[in-house]
Amino acid sequence: VGKHITEEKNTYSRGLMMKKTIAVIFFIFTMAISMLYITKDPGMGGSYAASALELQYEAKAKRDLLCLLLAYPQYIKEIERSAQGKLYVVMQSGKKIIYDDKKEKSYEQKMEDADLQDTMALAYPLKPIEGLVEVNDDPGRFRNYALLKEIYGRDQKSIEGQLTPINVGGQNCQFSKNNGAAQALKEAVSEAAALSRENKRVGGAAFPTSGTYNYRYIAGTSRLSPHAFGIAIDLARDSRDYWQWATREQGQKRIASYPQELAAIFEEHNFVWGGKWGHFDILHFEYRPEIILKSKYFSKGYEEGSPWHQGAPDDENTQQAIEKVEAAFK
Ligand SMILES: [Zn+2]
Repeated sequence: VGKHITEEKNTYSRGLMMKKTIAVIFFIFTMAISMLYITKDPGMGGSYAASALELQYEAKAKRDLLCLLLAYPQYIKEIERSAQGKLYVVMQSGKKIIYDDKKEKSYEQKMEDADLQDTMALAYPLKPIEGLVEVNDDPGRFRNYALLKEIYGRDQKSIEGQLTPINVGGQNCQFSKNNGAAQALKEAVSEAAALSRENKRVGGAAFPTSGTYNYRYIAGTSRLSPHAFGIAIDLARDSRDYWQWATREQGQKRIASYPQELAAIFEEHNFVWGGKWGHFDILHFEYRPEIILKSKYFSKGYEEGSPWHQGAPDDENTQQAIEKVEAAFK
């Protein structure tokens, strides 16, 4: 009898062992599968919160990349995503420019070494401003030099080969003809001249111009000025125009009396205005179509459930660019 009971106990515990083993194997298997999903696509396997964050990140990245494609159509060939998930803008030359280097950067580091994401992260306001904006709110002031060099020229000689003279209030101003920059300046100046005939303040703020192309470094830095690429113009100068020359109070007064209709004309032609930077540069206008397009199309944040490109125009050109972005995410 005793032997029988022991055998029964053994059978029982063996069965239990089997069940436990199966459970453990099943658990490990499930964990392995979900880990695979988490590493492959955080949007699918991560927690709900992580997935919402990922969706936001992806939508923002797609929007930025779409604006870049639309802003530089003859220069950007396609968007590429590496096996590690890194996004690149691929130029016609074959050069790849990283979208997000994933580095934590201080303000100064962004000035030195902005990736494409950094250059587009701050929202540029298309509406008139009430007064000076916050100190580090400088949408358009971070620049990606790899992109600028690809579009406007690698060095002084190649940049100068692309310059063309534009008549600005009777002065001949050199501007890059690449990517439609000079054409945009020509149109903006002609509209500003027309408006200045009925609005003296506009004429006074616009003319005489203080200069366009100048191969120089930004004062006190080793960074090229956007003027060195032939994509920036300084309009009529006032001693309160620049944060290095004037106090914020002086800048504030200058902004209050500035005819913002003039800024609106330039914005309409894809220029950002340095008057909308905390590091104010009120006479400075810079041709940055990607920044203006992003403001026009995507001033509203991305809402989960709606298409990421909601807000962009519904034309064939845009549709093709959307497809290029989506192709990279497949
Ligand atoms: Zn300037």
